[in-house]
Amino acid sequence: MKLNKYSVGVGDRFAHQAKAQLQACVKALEHGVEVVPVWNKSNREHSIIGSDPTSVRAAADAAVQALGWKLPYFCDADHITAETVERFLAPCDFFTFDVAEFIGQPAEAEEIESFVKRHPELHGSIELPGADQAFEITRDQLQQTAEKFLAAVKKAGEVYRIVLGAKGAGNFIPEVSMDETDRAQTPVELLIILAAIADERIPVETIAPKFSGRFNKGVDYVGDVAQFEREMALDVAAIAYAVRQYGLPENLKLSVHSGSDKFSIYPAINATMKRFNVGVHLKIGLAEAGGEGLALAKEVYGEALKHMEELCAPYATVIDIDPAKLPSAEAVRGWSSGEYTSALRHVEADPAYNPSLRQLLHVGFKVAAKMGPRYLKLLEANEPVIAKNVTENLFDRHIAPVFLGR
Ligand SMILES: [Zn+2]
Repeated sequence: MKLNKYSVGVGDRFAHQAKAQLQACVKALEHGVEVVPVWNKSNREHSIIGSDPTSVRAAADAAVQALGWKLPYFCDADHITAETVERFLAPCDFFTFDVAEFIGQPAEAEEIESFVKRHPELHGSIELPGADQAFEITRDQLQQTAEKFLAAVKKAGEVYRIVLGAKGAGNFIPEVSMDETDRAQTPVELLIILAAIADERIPVETIAPKFSGRFNKGVDYVGDVAQFEREMALDVAAIAYAVRQYGLPENLKLSVHSGSDKFSIYPAINATMKRFNVGVHLKIGLAEAGGEGLALAKEVYGEALKHMEELCAPYATVIDIDPAKLPSAEAVRGWSSGEYTSALRHVEADPAYNPSLRQLLHVGFKVAAKMGPRYLKLLEANEPVIAKNVTENLFDRHIAPVFLGR
């Protein structure tokens, strides 16, 4: 089992859109580009909705069957740890070990020392083929980076071995994620982290660093796009070096956890992939569904507003909501369908577009989940419209700019 060069991670919170999402990969194939789907749903999302990982597997299998998809596809146990992995073991074949919370935790002094000793190649000047600059790493820097990340990498090893014991070598795709943290990892840190991952004997196929800039849920990238592109290029060069130097899998690539709608960096991602002839795993999460019924949508907003603090807490590092920009529930109740859609739909040029409202609704799905059958019935009633939106949105706004370069 091996992850393809191009892959897209999609979320399907209510297990109703897998076919529509797969249809977008079918469209990519019709354009001559293989982009394989990975259905991801984090433990956090399952807990909030009250769903189980087997539902993701069932929806994925059914979609693949219905559309006759012949290429690989995967189910991702997204952002799991040793504590939460258990129920993902049977249905999943892609595991994202989230070790962000262990960054900065102290590792054993002798482990740090032996890491630094084991890697003399990591201090001094490292030439990276294809990169604009060499890495200059001092011994102190190597030591400090090991101090900061070694415990986190050990945690990745711990959960990797749990999955290995349950599924066997080669039967799943391992990803290591460090994206949900406040401080970005530099390309130099990424290289040192990869050396530690190789020491832990994790055959990692995708790695999700925290890039600089903000990756808030459902809204565009906030940051310097040129800086992102320079950083991504150095990350890619560091990965290529680590693959050769440490015998990591040949197909190891970056996983960009976009949190959806990072349109402004898509051209940079495409350009970097072309420049280095590498792939990427674009973990979108949820692309916009749309057309879910105005009255219900307003109700969801009102409830989300009321429970804003509790809804936002688990996503603190990946949202930036300005409460002053949120209209009152009463104001929204008076909106027309057009007003609601313009505020919600991600069109930067539209003055009515409201990123704070959009982010709140992006994390407010717990409210919809609580509505239970009423919400699901509505999803089903609107299935043809929603499906068309999902496919078009996923293909035109995400897959085409990243993988087809247009
Ligand atoms: Zn993530």
